Amino acid sequence: MDAIISQKRVWYNQRVRFDTLSSYFEKLEKTSSRLALIDILADLFKKAQEDEIGEIIHLLQGRIAPFFEPVEIGMAEKNVAGAIAKAYKFSKEEVLSLYRQLGDMGLVVQKIAPHRASKITVKEIVATLSQISEEFGEGTVQRRQGLLVGLLQKLDPTSAKHLARIPLGNTRLGIGDPTILDALALSELGDKSKRKMLEGAYDRTSDLALIATALRKSGLQGIQSLKVRVGFPIRSELCERLPTPEKIIEKMEKVNVQYKYDGFRVQIHKFRDDVRMFSRNLENMTHMFPELRDATRKQIKAETAILDCEALAYNPESEEFLPFQETTKRRRKHNIEEIAKELPLKAFVFDILYKDGESLIDTPLLKRMDILKQTVHTDDTLIPSVGEIVTEPKRLQAMLDEAISKGLEGLVVKRVDSLYEAGGRNFNWVKLKRHSAGELNDTIDCVILGYIFGKGKRTAFGAGALLVGVYDSKADEFVTVSKIGTGLTDEEWQEIKVQSSKFKVKSKPARVISLIEPSVWVEPKIVIEVLADEITRSPIHTAGKTGSDPGYALRFPRLVSFRSSDKRAEDATSVEELIKMYKGQTKKE
Ligand code: ATP
Repeated sequence: MDAIISQKRVWYNQRVRFDTLSSYFEKLEKTSSRLALIDILADLFKKAQEDEIGEIIHLLQGRIAPFFEPVEIGMAEKNVAGAIAKAYKFSKEEVLSLYRQLGDMGLVVQKIAPHRASKITVKEIVATLSQISEEFGEGTVQRRQGLLVGLLQKLDPTSAKHLARIPLGNTRLGIGDPTILDALALSELGDKSKRKMLEGAYDRTSDLALIATALRKSGLQGIQSLKVRVGFPIRSELCERLPTPEKIIEKMEKVNVQYKYDGFRVQIHKFRDDVRMFSRNLENMTHMFPELRDATRKQIKAETAILDCEALAYNPESEEFLPFQETTKRRRKHNIEEIAKELPLKAFVFDILYKDGESLIDTPLLKRMDILKQTVHTDDTLIPSVGEIVTEPKRLQAMLDEAISKGLEGLVVKRVDSLYEAGGRNFNWVKLKRHSAGELNDTIDCVILGYIFGKGKRTAFGAGALLVGVYDSKADEFVTVSKIGTGLTDEEWQEIKVQSSKFKVKSKPARVISLIEPSVWVEPKIVIEVLADEITRSPIHTAGKTGSDPGYALRFPRLVSFRSSDKRAEDATSVEELIKMYKGQTKKE
């Protein structure tokens, strides 16, 4: 008996405590080097047991479940302030006034929480946060507040600081998924360069916690056994660019050609009557598209399936597809049923990745298209798009003209024998757009990294130029590519101001590499679509810069649209793509 008790005690003591995790949060917050972030994280992971490591990874992302699960622990500022006031016997007004001074509820808590030791474990914190997320119905606000008060009263000031930020979605650690993968490779496999061995499982399941747990439990064997599963979004395959039909046929020979619809990407997961939908950046969007959910139940002849689609808003009166800007109005949280009637969606199903218990990602494209045809029952809402086989540049040009005349963006040309490469962007899929030949015709997705105060009229809005960058996917860093000062209306500046003020930080974020010091740094979160005349070489930008060689920069950049609703910062254009676009552009006279 004694032996069991002492064993239990050892087990209990080995549990990671929340004050330990908070001390790591503190270190991570103060670090501006990615290599140091990896070391700190690897050290933390080594402390965790098999059933804790996943929870710790979620907390690093400010969550208690993977980001694609709709588990919400969010609380309004005033309610968190109410809980803090109750926990420490302050008035709510005092808490809010401190908040106005300090700008961060975490700092408010750290200032007013009494010094005490906290013994509570990460597991216990997660259990209570789960309880918070499960509360609903009348009295939810009070019950959630009560649970938060209970936790705050058990924590030391630093732990309380980090806890208070969680329900506000404000953990500010700025750690990207590749950095977590690097750290897992270092802690579990002894070498961060072994991250490559984890990437396939990540592309198939998108769940870092699942990967960490499998790795801890069964090593690399556990990783290989992580297959595609319904409910876990697969990272999307993307397109390369080629300029002309001739170049495409020369490189790819026999191709399957599909229209490129300009809507938004939706990955539909069906498990009997349970339907889930994920956006291009893998967020769960199920509740936004009731007509697609109903159509999936009706039209899909399979118990379980995963479908890759492009959804477009459709005007039933004029029988026309609407432009992207109109379609994006469907991505909202309120009055869903009303807007679904006003702007119904249709989805072109262009791939099938799973059917009745079998993953299809390793099945060649043409076979997948056959399965797709057999699986989607023809009707109005889900429309299979299986393409046409083409071997001649002439036919490809005719299809491009056809697509343009229908108001579409262009074509997606796919290698007939290609497997589905989750998360890949290579010459399996190539996009061909209207002005493909010649100069830079495609837009670039940039991430806002900071803003530079201007002189004159715009000073009123607090910005004169934006410092923007692209993503270096190998290093998991953001590198600068341009300053954008023109082409924005006053309303757009205003919008940018509102959006970026949410992510303002005091010093350069950890993963940003820049030679330019903006007036204000912004965490890499906001993606904007930018059109430029040309890509040039420039010594002042860090995109693609190596040693004393210059980097790459955009000439005459203009803002086209905000893309944050469907792209994460890591989905922005990559340095590799930028360099390819630079090499592909023909010099203007
Ligand atoms: P762009 O901004 O030009 O759309 P992107 O970065 O969003 O580019 P790309 O890799 O260039 O993505 O193009 C792939 C996107 O095209 C897909 O994410 C999907 O949303 C859309 N698409 C439309 N029709 C198809 C199709 N038939 N097959 C594959 N993707 C398609």
